[in-house]
Amino acid sequence: MSGLHIPLGTPDGSRTEHAENLLAPNPSAMTLDGTNTWVIGTRDAVVVDPGPDDEAHLLRVRDHLGERRVTQILLTHGHADHSGGAKRFAELVDAPVRALDPRHRLGDEGLGDGDVITVDGLELHVYATPGHSFDSLCFWLPQDRAMLTGDTVLGRGTTIIAQDGGLGDYLRSLDRLRAAAEGLGARALLPGHGPVLPDPIAALDGYIAHRRQRLDQIRTAQAQGARTPREVVEIVYADVDRSLWPAAEVSVRAQLDYLERL
Ligand SMILES: [Zn+2]
Repeated sequence: MSGLHIPLGTPDGSRTEHAENLLAPNPSAMTLDGTNTWVIGTRDAVVVDPGPDDEAHLLRVRDHLGERRVTQILLTHGHADHSGGAKRFAELVDAPVRALDPRHRLGDEGLGDGDVITVDGLELHVYATPGHSFDSLCFWLPQDRAMLTGDTVLGRGTTIIAQDGGLGDYLRSLDRLRAAAEGLGARALLPGHGPVLPDPIAALDGYIAHRRQRLDQIRTAQAQGARTPREVVEIVYADVDRSLWPAAEVSVRAQLDYLERL
């Protein structure tokens, strides 16, 4: 596809025609290669997720912008690996921060479902996609037919349901994104971590299937006598690196809550 560039080995520098990724240096089991900071616009710019409070990264993004004026900083959600550097970056470029959660805003303007942000002749359409966190948003960039997905869909592996999220919401959000991707003819998902996904429908179908499969596995583990989240993790995530078990436990707790309420 014209305009889509996915470098090998690192998400840094991946781009569509009007969106470009500058990777933050905070790799971990949870953040994959690190947080993707997306810059949208070639004259004026919007910056999505400045990333963690890492001065070198924030300066790199500012310097990369050159003469471009940052009109707004947007957050896909309030988790620190996306929002931690927002206040400092706002100072550096003198721009407001907009987020669904008022605690993460700087300035008067909120951000929510149905909002349309314009910059440099481009539009960003806001989709509320709660689940990974209660305040998760996705941004549709129609000019590039690209959806910025934050942590709702990652470039590799699967996301977790954080303590401030919920599985019922998450499943509805995935269905909504799937319908939007199909209806809008999406050509790329630009995630908050990991590489660009050039086949949105396949990626979303994979996510939805994975969630159903995990729920089935949890029902099976329960049938085998597992009761606590930890006991379920020991069975269902037996083949997963143990450093991820605490995160898996949070995810399992969300799934047990969901199954209990069905
Ligand atoms: Zn994240």
